[in-house]
Amino acid sequence: MDLKTNFEQVEENIRKACEKAGRDRSEVTLISVSKTKPVEMLKTVYDLGPRDFGENKVQEMCEKIEVLPKDIRWHMIGHLQTNKVKYIVGKTELIHSVDSIHLAKEIEKQAAKQNVTVNVLIEVNIAEEESKFGIHKEETLSLIREAAALPHIRIKGLMTIAPFVENPEDNRTYFKQIRQLSVDIKAQNIDNVSMDILSMGMTGDYMVAIEEGATMVRVGTGIFGERNYNKQ
Ligand SMILES: *Cc1c(COP(=O)(O)O)cnc(C)c1O
Repeated sequence: MDLKTNFEQVEENIRKACEKAGRDRSEVTLISVSKTKPVEMLKTVYDLGPRDFGENKVQEMCEKIEVLPKDIRWHMIGHLQTNKVKYIVGKTELIHSVDSIHLAKEIEKQAAKQNVTVNVLIEVNIAEEESKFGIHKEETLSLIREAAALPHIRIKGLMTIAPFVENPEDNRTYFKQIRQLSVDIKAQNIDNVSMDILSMGMTGDYMVAIEEGATMVRVGTGIFGERNYNKQ
C-alpha cells in the first residue's frame, strides 16, 4: 500500500468537494487519523505535508508525541476518561470529544493547574445511536452554557461521528442537522464560545460532510489503510 497515493487521492477528493460546494480549500483542515498505526507510517505521511494528526487513545498519543516532530498538532478524537485527562492537557491542539460537564470540569481542573487554556469541541450524538458517545442534540446548548463558565476552556465548535453507512448520502441529513445546531448555538452569543469548527466526516463520507460545511474532516482508513486490531 502506498501512503503517498492514498494521501494524494484524499487531498484531491477534498479539493473536489470544496469546489463543488463553492468553498476555499483553506476552509477545511484534514486530520490524518493515525490510531493503531506505527510511527514510521505517521512520519511518512508527515513528510507529505500534513501537520494535524488524530488519535483516540491517551497512552498511544503520548507515546507518539514523544518521538514525532514537535510541530505536529495533535487532536484527541476518542472518548476520554476523566482519569486520563491530566496526561494530555497542554499537549493537544484540540479535544474533539467533550460530552459531559463532568469531563469538562476535569479538563478545567488540569488546565488551571498547568495554567493553560484548552480548546475543545462538544461531541454530539446526532443520530442518537446507542453505541456511540456524545451528548444528545437537545442537551447540547445547556452543556455548552455550563462549560462556557469554565475559565480555562474554550469551546470552539461541535464534533460528530455519523453512522456507518454504505452510501454517504445517507449521512447528509445528519451533517445538515449538526450544522444547523451550530448556527443556532452561535446565535446565542455565549461568552467563551465560538462555533468556528465543525468536525465531521470520516473516510466513508468526508466529501458529503465538506459539502455540508465541515471545517475539519477526520480521515484514517483512506490514508493509512485498514486497521488491524488483532495485531499486537
Ligand atoms: C477512527 C476514527 C476516525 C477515522 O475513521 P476512518 O473511517 O478510518 O476514516 C474518525 N473519527 C473518529 C472519532 C475515529 O475514532
